[in-house]
Amino acid sequence: MKHTLSQLALFGGAPAFAEPLHVGRPNIGDRARLLERINHILDERWLTNAGPYVQEFEERIARMIGVKHCVAMCNATVALEIAIRALGMTGEVVVPSMTFVATAHALQWQQITPVFCDIDPDTLTLAPRRIEELLTPRTTGIIGVHLWGRACDTDAIQSLARRHNLRVLYDAAHAFASTHKGKMVGNFGDAEVFSFHATKFFNTLEGGAVVTNDDELAAKLRLMKNFGFAGYDNVVYVGTNGKMSEVSAAMGLTGLESLDEFIAVNCAHYQQYNAELAGVRGVRVLPYDAGERANYQYVVLDIDAAETGVTRDQLLEMLWAENVRARRYFFPGVHRMEPYRSLYPMTHRRLPVTENMVARVLVLPTGTAVSGDDIRAICQLLRLVTEQHTEFARTWNERQRAPALFSVPV
Ligand SMILES: *Cc1c(COP(=O)(O)O)cnc(C)c1O
Repeated sequence: MKHTLSQLALFGGAPAFAEPLHVGRPNIGDRARLLERINHILDERWLTNAGPYVQEFEERIARMIGVKHCVAMCNATVALEIAIRALGMTGEVVVPSMTFVATAHALQWQQITPVFCDIDPDTLTLAPRRIEELLTPRTTGIIGVHLWGRACDTDAIQSLARRHNLRVLYDAAHAFASTHKGKMVGNFGDAEVFSFHATKFFNTLEGGAVVTNDDELAAKLRLMKNFGFAGYDNVVYVGTNGKMSEVSAAMGLTGLESLDEFIAVNCAHYQQYNAELAGVRGVRVLPYDAGERANYQYVVLDIDAAETGVTRDQLLEMLWAENVRARRYFFPGVHRMEPYRSLYPMTHRRLPVTENMVARVLVLPTGTAVSGDDIRAICQLLRLVTEQHTEFARTWNERQRAPALFSVPV
């Protein structure tokens, strides 16, 4: 525990953590059970192509979410691309910029224009009123993102879509196992996409899935993720290769057996962060809706620099020096990344809430790789710096700009 500013790694002290603490360090379930399944895969020599584990995985997910169809895929980006194509989206599609870049890339990759829409300052998901202003005769759909597991305003989006004859897809990469209006996420819009990437709280190494209650759409998704094969030597559609492997499904089935434990650990960490940061001025932990089931996989701080006396980026640099790899998800906003910043250089003007939020958020490590002691030490660092912010700012300004001991990726 550090109690004086001179102990900070930034100002010459030893880092609080010998090993880096990452956001999204993978949760791993029962290793013996996983290896048993992998041995079975090797014994059977059925490695991919809708093998028994992928089938079981899809059935388990569909039952858990309460949807008719789960189509497992190699990752969520390809799943988004395939779902976008299967839904017949073309021309322009409205998306938030406050998301991981893949949401927009999945459109741009197939020559569909992502039209960036601002978010609501309270929910931080697509602002329905802002969507309406962006609709043109070329608009074919809306992709909402359940940012950090907090669901979009699905009612407003649905009624908008109905009025304007638009398809609705949700990027639910953050909201696996969460509920919205008492229903499992996965049941909203025309389809929803989950990511099971290693950094998500539940992973299949790499992986993703599209879930839907639409039979016709599900059949199309299955064809498209398998080159359009409808049987031996019979191709009926243009397709790609979006298949999930058996080893990924084995990892997923094993992870599902520990899902409640992963969520319980995340929830306990989230509550601890809340309790320990409760008195820290200008630092707010973004809440989860207490009435819904959440996976608590992101601990997101909203930093009000006018209150803390320290900027978000100063806190970030302080934490990185201590080996706490906090993240600024999703700085600087997709609209400020290529190719979008060059293609649509004025977009930031209509995204004031997004521009404000990407300058304020700080995502902290959680999950089974992080301990309660780690969290206590991280919170103490934040408390120390904000309580002594005047002295911190002075030392920061006087500090010799020695060769960087660490670097924050921009
Ligand atoms: C992780 C993530 C993706 C991409 O998922 P992959 O499985 O890595 O392709 C897409 N959208 C959001 C919001 C994400 O967080």
